[in-house]
Amino acid sequence: MTSMPRPKEMETAFYKRDASYDGIFFTGVKTTGIFCRPSCTARKPLRENLQFFPSIKEAHFAGFRPCKRCDPLNVNGSSPAWVQELLRELDRDSSVRLKDGNLRQRGLQPEKVRRYFLKTYGMTFQAFCRGKRLGTAFEQIRNGSDLTGTAFDVGYESNSGFREAFGKIFGGAPGKKRREEGGVLFSWVETPMGPMVAGATAKGICLLEFSDRRMLETQLKTLKTCFGDGVVPGSNAHLDKLKKELAEYFEGERKEFSLTLDFPGSEFQTKVWNQLRKIPYGVTCTYEDIARNVGSPKAVRAVGTANGKNRIAIVIPCHRVVNKGGKLGGYGGGVWRKQKLLQLEKATLV
Ligand SMILES: [Zn+2]
Repeated sequence: MTSMPRPKEMETAFYKRDASYDGIFFTGVKTTGIFCRPSCTARKPLRENLQFFPSIKEAHFAGFRPCKRCDPLNVNGSSPAWVQELLRELDRDSSVRLKDGNLRQRGLQPEKVRRYFLKTYGMTFQAFCRGKRLGTAFEQIRNGSDLTGTAFDVGYESNSGFREAFGKIFGGAPGKKRREEGGVLFSWVETPMGPMVAGATAKGICLLEFSDRRMLETQLKTLKTCFGDGVVPGSNAHLDKLKKELAEYFEGERKEFSLTLDFPGSEFQTKVWNQLRKIPYGVTCTYEDIARNVGSPKAVRAVGTANGKNRIAIVIPCHRVVNKGGKLGGYGGGVWRKQKLLQLEKATLV
């Protein structure tokens, strides 16, 4: 359930405080970092500051906090006291790690907690905590995303909140020294299909993911393994170019990217990813096609796995691979995005 009404429809519902849309979509307010249900009675912000999400999960993973007034986490009535207690605890410190043992100490059955979160918020409790941690980090990145060069360093030193959150997620706070040794710079990119996180080394682009992707934390960790310790927020020439070309792509004005990429992987993965890069704009092919083209016609499943491990969405167009028989198949960024990307490309070709 990740599709949303049309933007105009959501805009109208949001400004009219139409409660019949509660639970259908959620609205993030970029200036405050808070997300609301449509019926929220708080003063409504300007259109340009709104961002719509199909679910709590997506708003949450994009780094928005629930509004205290309309309480979007309780769309279906009020949540049990034990849930409210857990949410309050996470609000106080999003970096707190609550393993099964910690839950039992609080008199909670881990399985019951897992089921409740899965049913109510569409994600397990652990995923919820992960989103909360990422949200804290992203909020800081968003606030400091235009800080580059020396300005970045100055802003960074004063930004101890981010330093701390970052350290808790990635182990070890990022420092100037590490950044100079080379590593990955990453920043936040707004797109019409939701926020993305982009990363680049000195060699080229190494990450582009929709920020609500479940795998994001894992992928940032993989980057750390691939490229060393220096994964820090910031920008460089590769990222500036990516932002420009990505904007043109979403405008329907760019059909090919002229970016330098940096995507280390196994021999097989590299073959598959290079094959994906050959699929022309607006064209789809199947996993079977890719398997045949890399000379391993039987390795369809392995091709699917390598496809799913692609770290550079859109630019390495894994969204152009569909199931035999025309079904869309999976997509890390959500199937609704895969469909929209393909629609965008087809519409531009006519
Ligand atoms: Zn609200």
